[in-house]
Amino acid sequence: MNNYLYNSDAYLREFDSDVISFKKSIFKNEEIYEFVLDQTCFFPEQGGQTSDTGSLICSDTGTKFEVFHVSIKNGVISHLARLKGDPAGKDVKETKCVHGTINWEERFDKMQNHSGEHLVSGTVHRFFGFDNVGFSLSDDNCTLDFNGTFSDEDIALIEKTVNRAVFENIEIQILYPDKEELASLEYRSKKEIEGQVRIVVFPGYDTCACCAPHVRRTGEIGLIKIVSAEHFKGGTRMSIRCGFRALDDYTGKLGECRKISQLLSVPMGEVSAAVEKVNTEVRNLKYDLIGKMNTILSLKAREVIKAKNPLVFIESADTNAVRAAVNSMIKENNGICGIFTGNDEKGYSFVIASSDIDCVGVLSLIKLEAGAKGGGNAGMIQGSIPCSENKIRALLKETDIRKV
Ligand SMILES: [Zn+2]
Repeated sequence: MNNYLYNSDAYLREFDSDVISFKKSIFKNEEIYEFVLDQTCFFPEQGGQTSDTGSLICSDTGTKFEVFHVSIKNGVISHLARLKGDPAGKDVKETKCVHGTINWEERFDKMQNHSGEHLVSGTVHRFFGFDNVGFSLSDDNCTLDFNGTFSDEDIALIEKTVNRAVFENIEIQILYPDKEELASLEYRSKKEIEGQVRIVVFPGYDTCACCAPHVRRTGEIGLIKIVSAEHFKGGTRMSIRCGFRALDDYTGKLGECRKISQLLSVPMGEVSAAVEKVNTEVRNLKYDLIGKMNTILSLKAREVIKAKNPLVFIESADTNAVRAAVNSMIKENNGICGIFTGNDEKGYSFVIASSDIDCVGVLSLIKLEAGAKGGGNAGMIQGSIPCSENKIRALLKETDIRKV
């Protein structure tokens, strides 16, 4: 039977334990080791929270293992581990006793975020009556699913309330009520729990059944920030950052904001207005550019209109201008009239039309000879062709075309 040391002391980082069982197996072509211990402070993956990681050192041989995953099944906790260092030639013998150490930074980070989650879920339930119907806490994300939706004002109210609870530095209580006490207790719980129920109380803010380690006082959670709240399955998926994660998030976003402010030469508080201005300028320039390219296209078309099989190559132009140019060409030319937009490197989009040559035959030719893609009818075809201007011109020479 495992003794879950994290239940009685969430701050315990190291422990000694007898080994109940130890076995070697192959997982994804790798030798791994599975330890079941008499007691442990490794929190296993459960309730939406990923497991602790850390190390185990055999007390008798000094052999070191890196614990990468911890699971629980039927109340038994298994520690999956790799040999630390170069295992080549090492004979790993069964060991009787180990010294375990959890990765404390990772654990404390999860304690901050899990306690923060309780404050948010409890506050949502208290103010709006919505339930937390899904929870996930991994190394880099903490998401909460609610069966209801929120306005921006609701989110601001929740944030302010939970951060006030942090500044009040309330002591968090862990209770193990008997059946009678439990029956008279109002608490949140996602599912029916068998056996002894563990209740985590944030006085004045939340009471919830939970098996995970928590901080001692709300002040240790640090800042709680709701970074997103998106519609999800008819409700809301909220993403939160607490403590050091909130600090990292702030630092990252501040850095991005500073870069943008430097690039646009405006104070940080004015970046969105400056970006809007740049967007408008870019939109106007693009519009202007398209207008000029369309003019160039029609001039180029006019220049070659009397040639045999006139073809025009241009970097870019809009669809309407291309169609207009090709239509004006076929009015005065019986051959193949083509407009190609693009360049030799990326290939070209094309519109080819003719008043007397079957364009479907032309399409078959360029599909076969140049890997073109596209469709159309006898009068006009369009598509893309992945080759150079020279090759296209060679393919569409008058002599070749007359054969199609
Ligand atoms: Zn919980």
